[in-house]
Amino acid sequence: MTFALTVLGSGTVAPSAARAAPGHWVEAGGARLLLDCGAGVLQSAARHGVPWETVTHVALSHFHADHWGELPHFLFALRWGIEPARADPLVLLGPEGLAERLEHLERAYGPWVRDPGYPLEVIELPPDGRRALSGDVELAWTRTQHTEESLAYAVSHAGRRLVYTGDTGPTPTLARWAEGCDLLLAECSLPEDRAMAIHLTPSQTGELAREARCKSLVLTHFYPPMETAQPARGAAARYAGPIAAAQDGDRFVIEA
Ligand SMILES: [Zn+2]
Ligand SMILES: [Zn+2]
Repeated sequence: MTFALTVLGSGTVAPSAARAAPGHWVEAGGARLLLDCGAGVLQSAARHGVPWETVTHVALSHFHADHWGELPHFLFALRWGIEPARADPLVLLGPEGLAERLEHLERAYGPWVRDPGYPLEVIELPPDGRRALSGDVELAWTRTQHTEESLAYAVSHAGRRLVYTGDTGPTPTLARWAEGCDLLLAECSLPEDRAMAIHLTPSQTGELAREARCKSLVLTHFYPPMETAQPARGAAARYAGPIAAAQDGDRFVIEA
Protein backbone atom coordinates (compact mmCIF):
# COMPACT_ATOMS: atom_id res chain seq x y z
CA MET A 1 0.00 0.00 0.00
CA THR A 2 1.33 3.42 -0.93
CA PHE A 3 2.46 5.68 1.86
CA ALA A 4 4.46 8.66 0.62
CA LEU A 5 5.17 12.30 1.27
CA THR A 6 5.78 14.91 -1.43
CA VAL A 7 7.02 18.30 -0.31
CA LEU A 8 5.16 21.04 -2.19
CA GLY A 9 6.31 23.97 -0.08
CA SER A 10 9.43 23.84 2.07
CA GLY A 11 9.49 27.59 2.59
CA THR A 12 7.84 30.14 4.83
CA VAL A 13 6.22 33.55 4.59
CA ALA A 14 9.46 34.88 3.08
CA PRO A 15 9.20 34.85 -0.74
CA SER A 16 11.67 32.45 -2.33
CA ALA A 17 12.48 31.60 -5.94
CA ALA A 18 12.85 27.95 -4.99
CA ARG A 19 10.41 27.31 -2.14
CA ALA A 20 6.65 27.72 -1.88
CA ALA A 21 5.04 28.51 1.47
CA PRO A 22 4.17 25.43 3.57
CA GLY A 23 2.39 22.54 1.88
CA HIS A 24 2.98 18.80 2.20
CA TRP A 25 1.17 16.14 0.16
CA VAL A 26 0.61 12.75 1.76
CA GLU A 27 -0.60 9.67 -0.12
CA ALA A 28 -1.76 7.01 2.33
CA GLY A 29 -3.96 4.16 1.15
CA GLY A 30 -7.09 5.81 -0.25
CA ALA A 31 -6.39 9.20 1.35
CA ARG A 32 -4.78 12.16 -0.41
CA LEU A 33 -4.04 14.66 2.31
CA LEU A 34 -2.64 18.16 2.00
CA LEU A 35 -0.96 19.33 5.20
CA ASP A 36 -1.09 23.15 5.14
CA CYS A 37 -1.92 25.23 2.08
CA GLY A 38 0.41 28.20 1.75
CA ALA A 39 1.04 30.51 -1.18
CA GLY A 40 2.50 28.75 -4.20
CA VAL A 41 1.43 25.25 -3.21
CA LEU A 42 -0.89 24.80 -6.20
CA GLN A 43 1.74 25.97 -8.69
CA SER A 44 4.25 23.70 -7.01
CA ALA A 45 1.89 20.74 -7.33
CA ALA A 46 1.45 21.47 -11.03
CA ARG A 47 5.20 21.90 -11.53
CA HIS A 48 6.03 18.61 -9.81
CA GLY A 49 3.22 16.52 -11.31
CA VAL A 50 1.32 16.02 -8.05
CA PRO A 51 -2.39 15.25 -8.72
CA TRP A 52 -3.73 17.92 -6.38
CA GLU A 53 -7.23 17.53 -7.82
CA THR A 54 -7.45 14.05 -6.24
CA VAL A 55 -7.23 15.56 -2.75
CA THR A 56 -9.53 13.99 -0.16
CA HIS A 57 -8.51 15.97 2.96
CA VAL A 58 -6.83 19.28 3.78
CA ALA A 59 -5.49 19.72 7.31
CA LEU A 60 -4.26 23.12 8.52
CA SER A 61 -1.71 23.31 11.32
CA HIS A 62 -2.50 26.90 12.38
CA PHE A 63 -3.74 30.21 11.07
CA HIS A 64 -0.56 32.09 10.19
CA ALA A 65 -1.20 33.35 6.67
CA ASP A 66 1.64 31.43 5.05
CA HIS A 67 0.12 28.12 6.22
CA TRP A 68 -3.36 28.57 4.80
CA GLY A 69 -3.36 31.66 2.57
CA GLU A 70 -3.92 29.65 -0.59
CA LEU A 71 -6.92 27.75 0.76
CA PRO A 72 -9.54 29.91 -1.04
CA HIS A 73 -7.62 29.50 -4.29
CA PHE A 74 -7.45 25.75 -3.70
CA LEU A 75 -11.21 25.46 -3.07
CA PHE A 76 -11.89 27.64 -6.13
CA ALA A 77 -9.52 25.64 -8.33
CA LEU A 78 -11.31 22.41 -7.45
CA ARG A 79 -14.51 23.99 -8.79
CA TRP A 80 -13.29 25.98 -11.79
CA GLY A 81 -9.72 24.89 -12.45
CA ILE A 82 -10.38 21.33 -13.56
CA GLU A 83 -12.68 19.61 -16.04
CA PRO A 84 -15.00 18.05 -15.26
CA ALA A 85 -15.65 19.99 -12.04
CA ARG A 86 -15.15 18.08 -8.83
CA ALA A 87 -18.06 16.05 -7.45
CA ASP A 88 -16.20 14.14 -4.73
CA PRO A 89 -16.43 15.41 -1.16
CA LEU A 90 -13.56 17.29 0.46
CA VAL A 91 -12.87 17.25 4.19
CA LEU A 92 -11.21 20.32 5.67
CA LEU A 93 -9.70 19.98 9.13
CA GLY A 94 -8.06 22.56 11.34
CA PRO A 95 -7.89 24.06 14.81
CA GLU A 96 -10.84 25.56 16.60
CA GLY A 97 -11.78 28.82 14.89
CA LEU A 98 -11.66 27.31 11.41
CA ALA A 99 -15.42 27.56 10.82
CA GLU A 100 -15.53 31.22 11.84
CA ARG A 101 -12.62 32.02 9.54
CA LEU A 102 -14.42 30.35 6.64
CA GLU A 103 -17.42 32.58 7.36
CA HIS A 104 -15.12 35.58 7.03
CA LEU A 105 -13.75 34.24 3.76
CA GLU A 106 -17.28 33.68 2.52
CA ARG A 107 -18.10 37.32 3.20
CA ALA A 108 -15.01 38.34 1.26
CA TYR A 109 -15.23 35.95 -1.70
CA GLY A 110 -18.83 34.77 -1.90
CA PRO A 111 -21.00 31.79 -0.96
CA TRP A 112 -18.90 29.33 -2.98
CA VAL A 113 -16.34 29.23 -0.14
CA ARG A 114 -18.59 27.01 1.97
CA ASP A 115 -20.72 25.73 -0.91
CA PRO A 116 -18.18 25.21 -3.69
CA GLY A 117 -20.29 22.86 -5.81
CA TYR A 118 -18.88 19.69 -4.24
CA PRO A 119 -19.58 18.51 -0.69
CA LEU A 120 -17.29 20.34 1.75
CA GLU A 121 -17.11 19.09 5.31
CA VAL A 122 -15.44 21.40 7.82
CA ILE A 123 -14.16 19.82 11.02
CA GLU A 124 -12.75 21.79 13.92
CA LEU A 125 -10.30 19.81 16.01
CA PRO A 126 -9.94 19.97 19.78
CA PRO A 127 -6.39 20.37 21.13
CA ASP A 128 -5.69 16.62 21.03
CA GLY A 129 -7.36 13.72 19.32
CA ARG A 130 -7.54 11.25 16.48
CA ARG A 131 -9.98 10.21 13.78
CA ALA A 132 -10.14 7.86 10.81
CA LEU A 133 -9.63 9.44 7.41
CA SER A 134 -10.39 6.49 5.14
CA GLY A 135 -9.92 2.75 5.41
CA ASP A 136 -6.95 2.10 7.68
CA VAL A 137 -5.64 5.68 7.48
CA GLU A 138 -5.85 7.62 10.73
CA LEU A 139 -5.06 11.22 11.54
CA ALA A 140 -3.99 12.27 15.04
CA TRP A 141 -3.05 15.72 16.30
CA THR A 142 -1.69 17.51 19.32
CA ARG A 143 -0.90 21.05 20.41
CA THR A 144 2.49 22.61 19.67
CA GLN A 145 4.37 25.50 21.15
CA HIS A 146 3.81 28.18 18.55
CA THR A 147 0.42 29.90 18.56
CA GLU A 148 -2.64 29.49 20.73
CA GLU A 149 -4.17 27.04 18.26
CA SER A 150 -1.18 25.43 16.52
CA LEU A 151 -1.24 21.67 15.93
CA ALA A 152 1.11 18.89 14.89
CA TYR A 153 -0.32 16.03 12.85
CA ALA A 154 0.39 12.31 12.58
CA VAL A 155 -0.80 10.14 9.71
CA SER A 156 -0.87 6.41 10.43
CA HIS A 157 -1.29 3.77 7.76
CA ALA A 158 -0.45 0.07 7.49
CA GLY A 159 1.53 0.09 10.71
CA ARG A 160 3.62 3.12 9.74
CA ARG A 161 3.44 6.68 10.99
CA LEU A 162 4.39 10.08 9.62
CA VAL A 163 4.52 13.03 12.01
CA TYR A 164 4.41 16.66 10.82
CA THR A 165 5.35 19.17 13.48
CA GLY A 166 3.69 22.16 11.84
CA ASP A 167 5.31 25.16 13.48
CA THR A 168 6.66 24.63 16.97
CA GLY A 169 9.29 25.65 19.45
CA PRO A 170 11.26 23.12 21.47
CA THR A 171 8.99 21.05 23.71
CA PRO A 172 9.52 17.60 25.27
CA THR A 173 5.84 16.75 24.97
CA LEU A 174 6.06 16.72 21.18
CA ALA A 175 8.94 14.23 21.26
CA ARG A 176 6.91 11.89 23.45
CA TRP A 177 3.92 12.23 21.16
CA ALA A 178 6.02 11.53 18.05
CA GLU A 179 7.83 8.59 19.68
CA GLY A 180 8.90 5.87 17.27
CA CYS A 181 7.45 7.43 14.12
CA ASP A 182 8.80 6.26 10.77
CA LEU A 183 9.19 9.73 9.28
CA LEU A 184 9.38 12.96 11.25
CA LEU A 185 8.68 15.97 9.02
CA ALA A 186 9.95 18.77 11.19
CA GLU A 187 10.09 22.49 10.90
CA CYS A 188 13.63 23.86 10.91
CA SER A 189 13.07 27.57 10.61
CA LEU A 190 16.16 29.37 11.77
CA PRO A 191 19.91 29.05 12.32
CA GLU A 192 21.32 28.53 15.80
CA ASP A 193 22.11 32.20 16.37
CA ARG A 194 18.49 33.15 15.60
CA ALA A 195 16.86 30.66 18.00
CA MET A 196 13.46 31.61 19.41
CA ALA A 197 10.83 29.97 21.60
CA ILE A 198 8.30 29.29 18.84
CA HIS A 199 10.51 27.78 16.12
CA LEU A 200 13.28 25.18 15.85
CA THR A 201 16.93 25.43 14.84
CA PRO A 202 18.79 22.48 13.23
CA SER A 203 20.19 21.26 16.54
CA GLN A 204 16.80 21.56 18.22
CA THR A 205 15.21 19.64 15.36
CA GLY A 206 17.88 16.97 15.70
CA GLU A 207 17.22 16.82 19.44
CA LEU A 208 13.51 16.36 18.81
CA ALA A 209 14.24 13.50 16.39
CA ARG A 210 16.65 11.88 18.87
CA GLU A 211 14.22 12.10 21.78
CA ALA A 212 11.39 10.83 19.59
CA ARG A 213 13.58 7.96 18.33
CA CYS A 214 12.11 8.45 14.87
CA LYS A 215 13.40 6.29 12.02
CA SER A 216 14.05 9.17 9.62
CA LEU A 217 13.98 12.96 9.66
CA VAL A 218 12.95 15.38 6.91
CA LEU A 219 13.60 19.06 7.55
CA THR A 220 11.29 21.72 6.11
CA HIS A 221 10.06 25.31 6.66
CA PHE A 222 13.32 27.13 5.94
CA TYR A 223 13.57 30.90 6.35
CA PRO A 224 16.12 32.48 3.94
CA PRO A 225 19.04 32.45 6.44
CA MET A 226 18.80 28.65 6.40
CA GLU A 227 19.84 28.46 2.74
CA THR A 228 23.48 28.71 3.75
CA ALA A 229 23.20 27.14 7.20
CA GLN A 230 23.52 23.42 6.25
CA PRO A 231 20.55 22.33 8.36
CA ALA A 232 21.04 18.58 7.88
CA ARG A 233 24.55 18.82 9.25
CA GLY A 234 23.33 20.77 12.28
CA ALA A 235 20.60 18.23 12.98
CA ALA A 236 23.06 15.35 12.54
CA ALA A 237 25.03 16.62 15.54
CA ARG A 238 22.11 15.40 17.71
CA TYR A 239 20.43 12.68 15.66
CA ALA A 240 22.13 9.65 14.12
CA GLY A 241 19.39 8.51 11.72
CA PRO A 242 18.88 9.47 8.08
CA ILE A 243 18.23 13.19 7.52
CA ALA A 244 17.06 15.06 4.42
CA ALA A 245 16.75 18.82 4.00
CA ALA A 246 13.66 19.05 1.82
CA GLN A 247 13.47 20.78 -1.53
CA ASP A 248 10.12 21.43 -3.19
CA GLY A 249 9.20 18.39 -5.26
CA ASP A 250 11.07 15.88 -3.09
CA ARG A 251 9.18 12.62 -2.56
CA PHE A 252 9.75 10.28 0.36
CA VAL A 253 8.26 6.79 0.41
CA ILE A 254 7.55 5.47 3.90
CA GLU A 255 8.57 1.84 3.66
CA ALA A 256 7.10 -0.96 5.71
ZN1 LIG B 1 3.49 29.94 12.18
ZN1 LIG C 1 5.31 28.85 9.61
